[in-house]
Parts: sequence; C-alpha cells; structure tokens
Amino acid sequence: MKLLEEEIRSRGQILPGNVLKVNSFLNHKIDPMLLEKMAEEWYQLFKNDNINKVVTIESSGIAMAILVALKFKCELVFAKKGKSSTLGNVLTASVYSYTKSKEVLISIERGYIKEDDNVLIIDDFLANGSAAEGLISIIQYAKANVKGIGIAIEKGFQDGGQKLRSQGYRVESLAIIDKMDYDTQTIEFKQI
Ligand code: 5GP
Repeated sequence: MKLLEEEIRSRGQILPGNVLKVNSFLNHKIDPMLLEKMAEEWYQLFKNDNINKVVTIESSGIAMAILVALKFKCELVFAKKGKSSTLGNVLTASVYSYTKSKEVLISIERGYIKEDDNVLIIDDFLANGSAAEGLISIIQYAKANVKGIGIAIEKGFQDGGQKLRSQGYRVESLAIIDKMDYDTQTIEFKQI
C-alpha cells in the first residue's frame, strides 16, 4: 500500500535491533484517516471470506482492528496480555514479545471465539511470527477457522511471514520491508 509505505518512510524511525518505531501515526499517536484506508484494503482482500470475527492482541492492534471490524460489521476480540482479575475462564498461549524480549502470556475469554467462527487476525507488525502463532493456537483451540492474517508492516527479512505462509495461512501485509538500515535510516520495500 503506497500510502502506508510513504508514511513509514517519512515518519518511521529505525531503532537498534531491527525495530521500527511508528509511534507518530500507528503505535502511540494515531492517524485514523490512514487506519481507515488500511482497513478498507483488508476489507477488499477478505470480503469474500465470510469473516465474522476480528482478533488482535493488545494494545497496538486494537485501533486498526476496530476499523476492520466495522468494515465487516462484526465483533472484535483482543487478546489480553498478562494476568487480570477481570478474566474468567480463558484460553491462553505464550508469546515471545519482540519488543520486550520476554515471554508474555496472552489470554482470550473462553466463548468469545466460537466454534466455526471465520476469523481475520489483525496486527501491526510481523517479525518472527510469535504473536500470530499464539493467536492462531487460541483460535484453533476454540475450533474456529483462521481465514487470514492482515499485517500492517511485515519485516520481510525476518522469518515470520515465510513460516506462516508455508503453514498454509493467507498473510496479507500492506507494506513489506525488505531491508532497513539503522546507520543510514533507509528502508527498502518489497514490491507487492
Ligand atoms: P513477532 O511476534 O512476529 O516476532 O512480532 C510481532 C509483534 O512484536 C507485534 O505485535 C509488535 O507489537 C511487535 N513488533 C515486532 N517488530 C516490531 C517493530 O519493528 N516495531 C514495533 N513497534 N513493534 C514490533
């Protein structure tokens, strides 16, 4: 998606450790007009898949996922991180957090994803695939169908995308970064 690539180029900041900071429009300050256009892209890609649930992980995915759920006129469930006293009977998975460099437990209340739901997973970044794999395992435990995975920014030089696609999942990333260089602050995108 050209517009997203332009925003990443002009407003993104490359941090050490292959981390891209997009706090000025996606992860902290949010540009709802851009997010709405991104949601429309995913809607066009998955509109024939009978999506009836959008699933993401807190907190960065939630803003995008709400707009996607509005397009599909369905509910959104976001996995919660850590333990919470307000959670009841939950399905859990352990996810390795790329930005925090530690294992985090994610949970979704049992019953919020129903058997045979057609689920679209939405997340801001795809790096090594741990977050997506954790969500997939919860969705599969609930006996629902993972119809696809919509990613805003895939870091194509890390192996998450390749792992998920080789397992047969449809991954639709709106921008795929081939290379990014901390010293020169330059980014190359894969043509999609
Ligand atoms: P993965 O689980 O695929 O290794 O990493 C994806 C998750 O880690 C995303 O949910 C995102 O929150 C975080 N993440 C991974 N890489 C980056 C990055 O370069 N920048 C930011 N802001 N978050 C990232």
